[in-house]
Amino acid sequence: MADTERWLELLEEKGGRITGPRRAIVELMANSDRALSPVHVFDLARAKYPKMGLVTVYRTLEFLSELGLVERVHQPDGCHMYLRAANGHEHLMICSGCGKAVYFSGDDLSAFIEKISKESGFLIQSHWLQLHGLCKECH
Ligand SMILES: [Zn+2]
Ligand SMILES: [Zn+2]
Repeated sequence: MADTERWLELLEEKGGRITGPRRAIVELMANSDRALSPVHVFDLARAKYPKMGLVTVYRTLEFLSELGLVERVHQPDGCHMYLRAANGHEHLMICSGCGKAVYFSGDDLSAFIEKISKESGFLIQSHWLQLHGLCKECH
């Protein structure tokens, strides 16, 4: 639960009021290893806080994403999901079946990036890698 308290502190620091619904959403996102759609967050958080509103879910997720606490994850179907942010530079593997998300670090992309940078004339400043597939339970 350490993350939950840290997130709530930051939220308050940045001018967000800590309400019951917000606390439920923060608790959920800080402790989930799955990427969740706003509607899914709504359903799960409502179990803890029955008077939850969907608009509150959208706004809180947006706020958490501005604070860098959650990341917006793009799905192949174009939908957005949210996931707690990585610690520093990490890459993401995400299960298309159940949404399970695993961050991993270390990459051998520098040679590849250098090559396409040379070919295209682009000065590459950063990258974000997201792998889609099926987790152990889903294949
Ligand atoms: Zn899965
Ligand atoms: Zn990298």
